[in-house]
Amino acid sequence: MEVCVVAGAGGFIGGHLVSALVADGHRVRAVDAKPLSAWHQRPPAAETCVVDLSDRDACRSVVTGARVVYNLAADMGGIAFIEGNRAQCMLNVLIDTHLLLAARDAQVERYFYASSACVYAAGKQDRPDVVPLAEDAAYPALPEDGYGWEKLFGERMCRHFSEDFGLATRVARYHNVYGPYGAIDGGREKAPAAICRKVITAKLTGDRSIEVWGDGRQTRSFTYVDDCVVGTRLLTSSQVADPLNIGSDEMVTIDELIDVVEEIAGVRLARRYLPAAPQGVRGRSSDNRQIRRKLGWAPSTSLAAGMEATYRWIYDRMVAGQPANPVSSGAAHQPTTVSAGS
Ligand code: NAD
Repeated sequence: MEVCVVAGAGGFIGGHLVSALVADGHRVRAVDAKPLSAWHQRPPAAETCVVDLSDRDACRSVVTGARVVYNLAADMGGIAFIEGNRAQCMLNVLIDTHLLLAARDAQVERYFYASSACVYAAGKQDRPDVVPLAEDAAYPALPEDGYGWEKLFGERMCRHFSEDFGLATRVARYHNVYGPYGAIDGGREKAPAAICRKVITAKLTGDRSIEVWGDGRQTRSFTYVDDCVVGTRLLTSSQVADPLNIGSDEMVTIDELIDVVEEIAGVRLARRYLPAAPQGVRGRSSDNRQIRRKLGWAPSTSLAAGMEATYRWIYDRMVAGQPANPVSSGAAHQPTTVSAGS
């Protein structure tokens, strides 16, 4: 059976993708730089490789015999991480470059690249009632400094490897992905997990207040991880060569996100706003017209349903006093199945 390589398999989305592929009977080579003990999920049926994919020889060795390569490997995190580590984020270009070269030379059938909504121009995201971002809004380019520029460059490399070398590349722009088996703390967590953690801490300690980064009126849409994985697989097996948004279009303010979590937790908390804390763009949501037209599908998990599952997972881990990210060997999420080629 041919191999699907998942780069960044020890991370949040990569772990879910491996679980879904394995559940559908695919032979998966799961690759990450982190030691296995730090992987978010580890389905026993996947072959695992711990290598640094910024190294060209490592990329060559992991793509041997591969039919599909999913590149989800990147040094990244929430807004505080990407604003504070711009050079480190740009070094992801080494992973993108070496994996693309290795995939071209190994003549893989498909190469998937995980890009980001951070490629969109800042000036188109400067108000809470933002116009949802359609794919053509990435140009003229003024992406998020550091991380966003690197993602946009990664997209361009995919395009030119396709045009010049005939490598079939597929590119998704993920929008704020959340769900179980994500980072909860340590600085790489995103807003949904951070808010769950703060609300749970307030509930467990009896401290009836939480800190909120910004003024609570900034807007976002949040994409449940199962939708992200289904979209990734549909896009990879499609004929769509241009970048596509994979994001929810259910836009909420951060205050509304907190309302959802408080409702799940059964608490009401005072909010201490920190206007000077990192908060990224003022507004962001996904325009899903292209994905609906081209794939006949779009993310559909409601924020309330996705946050319920996420909250329950985080609550159980916090109550059990388990470390935030790594999971025990063999633990894996029950993925949504998808009728896609791989
Ligand atoms: P993550 O940090 O959980 O996973 C990324 C994984 O890549 C980590 O496990 C990390 O160890 C691994 N990695 C980093 N450098 C490596 C290297 N040199 N060699 C091998 N492995 C390396 O992130 P995630 O949330 O799962 O994101 C996956 C992909 O999706 C990334 O490319 C990210 O930029 C992109 N993305 C994510 C989101 C989101 O909301 N989570 C949004 C937009 C784009």
